Amino acid sequence: MNNLAAIFLDRDGVINRERSDYVKNWREFQFLPNALAALRQIATLPVPILVMTNQSAIGRGIVSRSAVDAIHRQMQHEVAEAGGRIDQVFMCPHRPDENCACRKPRPGLLLQALHQYDLPAAHTVFIGDSFTDFQAAQAAGCGSILVRSGLQGPQLAALLADQPPVDLVDDLAAAISLILR
Ligand SMILES: [Zn+2]
Repeated sequence: MNNLAAIFLDRDGVINRERSDYVKNWREFQFLPNALAALRQIATLPVPILVMTNQSAIGRGIVSRSAVDAIHRQMQHEVAEAGGRIDQVFMCPHRPDENCACRKPRPGLLLQALHQYDLPAAHTVFIGDSFTDFQAAQAAGCGSILVRSGLQGPQLAALLADQPPVDLVDDLAAAISLILR
């Protein structure tokens, strides 16, 4: 991708195995195969690498914000140990019924990152695993690549059928290959 300005990543289903009962502690955080190697591949690119994640388990009272923050610190630490880099995590802690501006499919998290890092949206790419990630990227003007490694993987192609063409690949490593091509 020419003039790449930033890489945005969803967390669950892209970096780690998605759980229908939420990742509530570090023991439940399981890196997906090849995710660490893929993150190492992009670490030397001169662009911010930022995670955009909905964590409604906080708003639902299932896990505390400090516990999720601790999971993210540990994730960033392990990624760094493996030679990779995650510069910052942008997180929505709200429940769907709170109607916040930051819960994907709304673009709030992406807009926040674009503003904070002064990024041209059209030169950024969001790697996500769900239709709502695609919708958030569209709403923010970012490019997107979808991966099948999340719980929605089997349905993604059908969900995207009536949408503008978007790259749909197996996992983060394949998405990174597309970006580096
Ligand atoms: Zn929110």
